[in-house]
Amino acid sequence: MDYPRYAEIMIQEQLLSRDITDTRVLRAMKEIPRHSFVPSASLRQAYGDFPLPIGSGQTISQPYMVAYMTQVLSLEGSEKVMEIGTGSGYQTAILSLLAREVYTLEILASLAEKAKKTIQALGLKNIHYRIGDGYQGWVDEAPFDGIIVTAACTEIPPPLVQQLHTGAVMVLPLGRPSDIQELVIVRKEPEGASVKKLMDVRFVPLRRKSSKM
Ligand code: SAH
Repeated sequence: MDYPRYAEIMIQEQLLSRDITDTRVLRAMKEIPRHSFVPSASLRQAYGDFPLPIGSGQTISQPYMVAYMTQVLSLEGSEKVMEIGTGSGYQTAILSLLAREVYTLEILASLAEKAKKTIQALGLKNIHYRIGDGYQGWVDEAPFDGIIVTAACTEIPPPLVQQLHTGAVMVLPLGRPSDIQELVIVRKEPEGASVKKLMDVRFVPLRRKSSKM
């Protein structure tokens, strides 16, 4: 399989043809081998224009969604960012090339451990992992310059807004699990936060039954 070529086609047909213009994001999407993050049974579809199952009822997001949500954060390289929902670790790896430090939380230990192995094999080192309920964020490491939530929330989690720097943004899917949700951008203001809708999306739900942190 000529994976670099598949990655190139993915970038042309799914990202450039839509609205992904951030050259650093495009470069990261070329550099991180998406096929390393999908189950071996799905290798042939790794660069397709859709999400894929990664086990435990979870999914790796569609390439466009990963690129779009990353682009929304407008990263320049000096940021400390948090991701809720490590999953396969693909989004985590993309963030690691674009930010200074990445803090990623996953509620399912099996997925977190697998993601960590995949990422370590790629030699990416600026990532910090935690198993637990991401709704609470990572208090000890706050504030963050950006937060990305990759599971659908029924409300904007107040702890996460609290853990943003003033002026920083969080991107998250908002809505009921069984429905289409709205991807929104939340900007922390000196007082409160502003919320803007971006597009309709479909994500797996943010679970609320916590495992031990
Ligand atoms: N970013 C991932 C997408 C994974 S799907 C990727 O690119 O592969 C969403 C993930 O969120 C799942 O792995 C799910 O287990 C995790 N998740 C669900 N609820 C969570 C919670 N409360 N805290 C942390 N992770 C959660």
